[in-house]
Amino acid sequence: MAVARNRSLRPGPVAGRHLDDGHGLWRYADRIAVRCHRCAAPGWVVRGSRTAGFRCLSCSLVLEEGNACGCGCCGAGTWVGPVRYSGRRPCGYCGHQWLHAQAHRAVGSPPLQALPVACAQCGRSSDVSVSVQPVRDAESNDPYFGMPLLLVERTRAGLLWAYNQAHLQALHDYAGAMLRERAGVTNGSMFSRLPHWMKLARNRALLQKATARLIAKANAIR
Ligand SMILES: [Zn+2]
Ligand SMILES: [Zn+2]
Repeated sequence: MAVARNRSLRPGPVAGRHLDDGHGLWRYADRIAVRCHRCAAPGWVVRGSRTAGFRCLSCSLVLEEGNACGCGCCGAGTWVGPVRYSGRRPCGYCGHQWLHAQAHRAVGSPPLQALPVACAQCGRSSDVSVSVQPVRDAESNDPYFGMPLLLVERTRAGLLWAYNQAHLQALHDYAGAMLRERAGVTNGSMFSRLPHWMKLARNRALLQKATARLIAKANAIR
């Protein structure tokens, strides 16, 4: 029996048609526009052949993946983004188990070693040693160091963010396509994971305009 081939799914640009070839967000993570966490100047995190790095042209901050950040914190390695602290211990006065310590801190917060926790049984406060975990949230921070993303716009439909021009161009093309297709795509693809508002036909024009504005902003970064 002859098998009909769906030739429409061949990769290649076709006007008005968008093809999701299954690539992930990672494809765009080679250059990421960020705001320096120390001085807020715009800059680029650049992924080399093995590691990523950031060099601020304004305050001379240098971050290299795999090297300690130099601030003496640094349970989270070179991570300067938001962190979560947690720890537990028995009460130092009555032995009640457990005193739980938990806290979140924003980008660039001074490191914590311990947190005071009041005992539920005797009411006295003990210091609980805490360990630190990076909060990796791609919606607001670069995935290497956790610095705030620069190419961000809060539209009335939802939050638009992107790593660089190529990422924005991909979203721009997606927004403009009247027909959206997928070729053997798993749900790891960047397009399959877009927020719902970006997939709605009624937000096409809004998404196109917002991506165009952010492309202009990206082109202006040194
Ligand atoms: Zn800086
Ligand atoms: Zn106690």
